[in-house]
Amino acid sequence: MGVVTALVCPRCGAEYPAGPLFDGCPACRRGGLGVNLWPRYDETAVARTFIRAKLAERSWDMWRYSELLPVDLGRRVALGEGGTPLTELPRLAGRYGLARLYAKDETRNPTWSFKDRLAAVAVSRALEAGARVVLDSSTGNQGAATAAHAAKAGLPAVVFTFGRVPWTMKVFMAAYGAMVLQIDDDAARRRTLEACVLIERLPRLAAAERFGPLGQALAAGLDRVPAITTSPTVAISIDTDVSTIQALDAIRATKGAAVTVPEEAIVATQLEAARTEGLFPEPSSACALAGARLLREQGWIGPGETVVAFITSMGLKDPTPSRPYLPEPPFVEPTVEATLRALREVYGFT
Ligand SMILES: [Zn+2]
Repeated sequence: MGVVTALVCPRCGAEYPAGPLFDGCPACRRGGLGVNLWPRYDETAVARTFIRAKLAERSWDMWRYSELLPVDLGRRVALGEGGTPLTELPRLAGRYGLARLYAKDETRNPTWSFKDRLAAVAVSRALEAGARVVLDSSTGNQGAATAAHAAKAGLPAVVFTFGRVPWTMKVFMAAYGAMVLQIDDDAARRRTLEACVLIERLPRLAAAERFGPLGQALAAGLDRVPAITTSPTVAISIDTDVSTIQALDAIRATKGAAVTVPEEAIVATQLEAARTEGLFPEPSSACALAGARLLREQGWIGPGETVVAFITSMGLKDPTPSRPYLPEPPFVEPTVEATLRALREVYGFT
């Protein structure tokens, strides 16, 4: 387990004792800003056992980095999160004019989204802290991940969600035993950017947004992310008018960028990825691919560069947006002639 020596505010630098501080930095909060705190680890203790050359001997999942997680490895609540594949997407790379394009395929996590990483740590910590119930606010992915890990831990889970969240997501959360409650108020949701200390050089990080709060902050040189106006979108998981100071910092620190993806590109990109690469991302995750295409068109990504798109969750969690673009499977007589006719007439296959 990583030994947390302090909680640190990434914005104002204030330090706090390692304890429950669920509302983020109190100093920033007094100034009207919500900022999540980072754990600081005992670096000497980490260096004793966290030896890069020996990592290959460990299990290929998130827990191989246990010294950098605030969780007792022996008491972790784990369902096999992390260790997801980096899959090359050569056909999409060709279409986008990219040298190499990879998907970091987070749909392979236990509840098919990257939120399993967060939920595993949070529920493990809750169990260690003696919590009797786990609470969450979610558009679906986070709620399902929390509900599944709470079920594994034997803890009851309460998930607050929103009316516009797809019914499939609500079923998914409830199936794990979560008590799901709907509140139609736009509570803030957060997008997280993670950086790994093990890589030699940080890649440039680019945010693919639907509404562009990070893009606005970058363009105007702001030290906070402004709240902006939203409109209806199929990208439920990133349907937010706010983002985090950590995301802004990470983009600036890596000389990154933010790009706003138009609504009409989302489902088109989602189905293009499914048809050409066998990868079916949820609409919000398709924004990462659409963003890579836009940044290449704008010249921000050069023709020889390698791109990794984070595919944070999978498409079946909300099939409603893609369904109108797919033909209703026809019933056919069990004959060769009827089969060929249906393939020709419905699918244009000859
Ligand atoms: Zn602060």
